[in-house]
Amino acid sequence: MVPELPEVETIARGLAHAVAGKTIATVTVTLPRVVVAPPGETFATALVGETVVSVGRRGKYVVFALASGRRLAVHLRMTGRLVVQAPGYVEPYPHTHVVMGLSDGSRLSFADARTFGRMRLLAAGDPWDADGGVEPLSEGFTSDAFVSMLDGRRTPIKTFLLDQTRIAGIGNIYACEALWEAGIRPSRPAHKISKPARRRLHGAIRNVLHRSIEARGTSVDDYVDAEGLKGGFQNQLAVYGRLGEPCPRCGKPIVRTVIGQRGTWWCRGCQQ
Ligand SMILES: [Zn+2]
Repeated sequence: MVPELPEVETIARGLAHAVAGKTIATVTVTLPRVVVAPPGETFATALVGETVVSVGRRGKYVVFALASGRRLAVHLRMTGRLVVQAPGYVEPYPHTHVVMGLSDGSRLSFADARTFGRMRLLAAGDPWDADGGVEPLSEGFTSDAFVSMLDGRRTPIKTFLLDQTRIAGIGNIYACEALWEAGIRPSRPAHKISKPARRRLHGAIRNVLHRSIEARGTSVDDYVDAEGLKGGFQNQLAVYGRLGEPCPRCGKPIVRTVIGQRGTWWCRGCQQ
């Protein structure tokens, strides 16, 4: 699975705790293709001497804000991990491709078994995320804004929710869960959904994301946070990955269909 908003938020909070205020003393890139920009040597040279001011999230990216105004954006994709190892820890983390030695002797490693994850160093003010969608937990994501977003959109609502240029950070797990909570059929064309149902879905999106962040994300696969701990939201999932199990609301068996080439779990009994 690709970490979605709650998992990336949890990772960013853990990293903020571990590296904020520390200075990058050394950078070693052993697999250049994980660095999108600037090219390897420049990337390493540019980062040395930078201090990490804070660590946050934009969509599914972890974003390190640096003292110079530059930012380091990391997309973990399937198996990427950002791991902080304490001073004196000598064993390298498995599948590490980029290592940053920090001023206190600790080490921040980017590891990725399948090597789909990517890092990018952004100049100050780089509008790299300008085409990214609204953050669903931000003040800008109002119920009214969401109601209008669906006007004229003929795409299935499930597919719409996954479009990162509309809403940032929602992936397969939270699209399935929010649609179940709102009682909406995932294949329904977005523009055909009634206004009251759109408002229910808006509330459900925020609710499911907040509850998952509280549980430190969902670990259905190999997701762990910055401290290497699994999340807990997999125990609260109503439909995702629960083919054949009874719907927690109506008792009918959960089904799995494919919408927009993505597996979709839902309940025929109470999602109309
Ligand atoms: Zn049901």
